[in-house]
Amino acid sequence: MKNLITLSALFCTSLATLAQEGDPKATEVYSSVPVKISVKNNIPTDAIVLFDGKNLSQWEDKDGKPATWIVKDGCFTVKPGSGDIFTKEKFSNQQLHLEFRIPNDVKGEGQDRGNSGVFIMGEYEIQILDCYENKTYSNGQTAAVYKQSIPLVNVCKKSGEWQSYDIIFEAPKFNADGTLGKPAFVTVLHNGVLVQNHYEIKGKTMYIGLPKYIAHDAKSLSLQDHNHKVSFRNIWVRKL
Ligand code: MG
Repeated sequence: MKNLITLSALFCTSLATLAQEGDPKATEVYSSVPVKISVKNNIPTDAIVLFDGKNLSQWEDKDGKPATWIVKDGCFTVKPGSGDIFTKEKFSNQQLHLEFRIPNDVKGEGQDRGNSGVFIMGEYEIQILDCYENKTYSNGQTAAVYKQSIPLVNVCKKSGEWQSYDIIFEAPKFNADGTLGKPAFVTVLHNGVLVQNHYEIKGKTMYIGLPKYIAHDAKSLSLQDHNHKVSFRNIWVRKL
């Protein structure tokens, strides 16, 4: 062990010497090479496709029964009253892409207008709402980390138009005794525009009261049934 430490110290010393002498090799890394992938039809080849336009085979309801939201014309739509849907597969650190559409004939106001939501790990909601011209509390509008973080800008499209979320999520880490070791962080692009910049999530999304963490492992992604006919398409996730 002592020899190893000595060797490592020697290596570091020689690297430092090389760097001092202006040798570019001193700061070049060859030992770790990124895996080669490609992008086909705008989907990275290492992504898990959660909806390919045909069926909800990757999704289920809260009881583990087949999801009954309506699949039609390459997208699927909330079936009001049927409940949230969950991916069969569980995720932690992830890059998520999805597209959503508020119905063209949307009615209502405030939170009662084209409401749904992306619940990362089933716990942390990125709000979906029609906020093109609709007043509500700022930390509950489209692209908010619901009741926690106001989006940097409002880049909502009109109802009836497809919109996208690209979400980069670092899962929280918990200690063996269930206490929080490291909080979750989230970055969100709405229609390609940065709206949440590495925001430190304060805990599980709460409708009433302050957010708090409850220890959990990898969990399903879920989509919210808020009684509004919001549609989704082109959903894929990369495990990070
Ligand atoms: Mg919602």
